[in-house]
Amino acid sequence: MKKNIYLSQLIECFKNIELWEKRLPSFETDETLEIPAEKIKSVFTEYFTRLGNSYPFFHRQYAGQMLKPPHPAASLAYFTAMLINPNNHALDGGPETSVMEKEAVQQLAKMFGFKNYLGHLTSSGTIANLEALWVSKSIYPEKLIAFSKEAHYTHNRMCSVIGAKFIEIDTDSQGRIDTEDLEEKLKIYPIGTLVATVGTTGRGAVDPIHKLLELKEKYNFRIHVDAAYGGYFILLAEDSKRLIEPEPFLSISQCDSVVIDPHKHGLQPYGCGSIIFRDPSVGKFYKHDSPYTYFTSKELHLGEISLECSRAGASAAALWVTLKCFPLKPNEGMGPILAKTRKAAVKWAELVNKSQYLEILSQPELDILVFFPKSKSLKSSLISKLSENLFNSAINNKNFPVYLAKMKLESKTLSKNFPEIVLDQEYTTLLRSCLMKPEHLNFIPELHKYIENLAKEIRDKT
Ligand SMILES: *Cc1c(COP(=O)(O)O)cnc(C)c1O
Repeated sequence: MKKNIYLSQLIECFKNIELWEKRLPSFETDETLEIPAEKIKSVFTEYFTRLGNSYPFFHRQYAGQMLKPPHPAASLAYFTAMLINPNNHALDGGPETSVMEKEAVQQLAKMFGFKNYLGHLTSSGTIANLEALWVSKSIYPEKLIAFSKEAHYTHNRMCSVIGAKFIEIDTDSQGRIDTEDLEEKLKIYPIGTLVATVGTTGRGAVDPIHKLLELKEKYNFRIHVDAAYGGYFILLAEDSKRLIEPEPFLSISQCDSVVIDPHKHGLQPYGCGSIIFRDPSVGKFYKHDSPYTYFTSKELHLGEISLECSRAGASAAALWVTLKCFPLKPNEGMGPILAKTRKAAVKWAELVNKSQYLEILSQPELDILVFFPKSKSLKSSLISKLSENLFNSAINNKNFPVYLAKMKLESKTLSKNFPEIVLDQEYTTLLRSCLMKPEHLNFIPELHKYIENLAKEIRDKT
């Protein structure tokens, strides 16, 4: 990447803000706000040292958690707006960035095929999901919220925040909602809302939304789609190469709400989730008046349809700029980026499937791979130990550190894929890799060889 374009753009950003400030008469900064130049230097020197202790998320050797560097265009846009510091709670706080937010959310809604909708950005996927569950609880105060065992852990927690009763649905060997178990439970319990996940945080499983819609017909419940991680992959759903299973994605438009996190796969810095409802009338649940805020316009203020009050207008601005540079299209902008991350996972899965030293949990549906070192006997304690060892050797190699992630899976769930496994531990630790960067694709052969070698060494030692 040609970093210097962005460096000169950074200077442009500063200059532009300066010009904007000059529209008003200048005045002296108050002395209480002044910092001596020496002090700035020394504090920032210490600060740089501290930041040096971060993990290198930007690098292709970082193939661990769901962490991806924002695009420089997004960072610059964020930084520039941050100098103004708009607040998208109200048009009074962020007159222009609120409009950018509406435009950006419109594009996200269109990507999912929502025509009429109500939506906004949030500071995270957790808050976006909280809003969806809270609306569900407002519609069905007495009914249960159901989600799968591999759904994000915050659904459970947020149900207790809103005081909703909930029920967990079993998953199948791919980590998707087990529709048989779901139907059994629909027969017995009053389930008002089902959370379907598009890209589970553990292994990137995609719940069969098209099948869930059939059950919705029969049992009448709401479906909320948690596509915080996997939502952008819908761009590949109409691709003839069938890089992903299209049906679940193309069914999202018939669900009641969807969450997508631009700060996961959307090249955004943190502080950017979003919630979109298919029926705009749910806005009534948000209805409130504020004695302080809504004065400058009769237009909809985003704070009137959002649980949060202050939100960074800079997040909306960054997303808006990013979407100008990377439109939500299959063959341009975002699509080709997602296609490469997906191909990286497919390629690595092929290599692991053939490997003597590594075993895959289940075939990846998106760009997340879960695997473990093969051992002489299939025992959960031994798999955990070997996974830990491999994780540590990879991250601690000074010359060539590779950053993987770990995943703790209920051993019972693992036995769905490996019935012969000895369950001597309740949970088994596996290795997990989110291949979120397009640069991962070309790196896979080398990465695989390296990890496979470590697995071989570890096995020989045990
Ligand atoms: C990351 C994630 C969340 C939580 O989102 P945050 O932005 O981290 O709060 C929820 N659901 C899924 C499926 C996720 O991957």
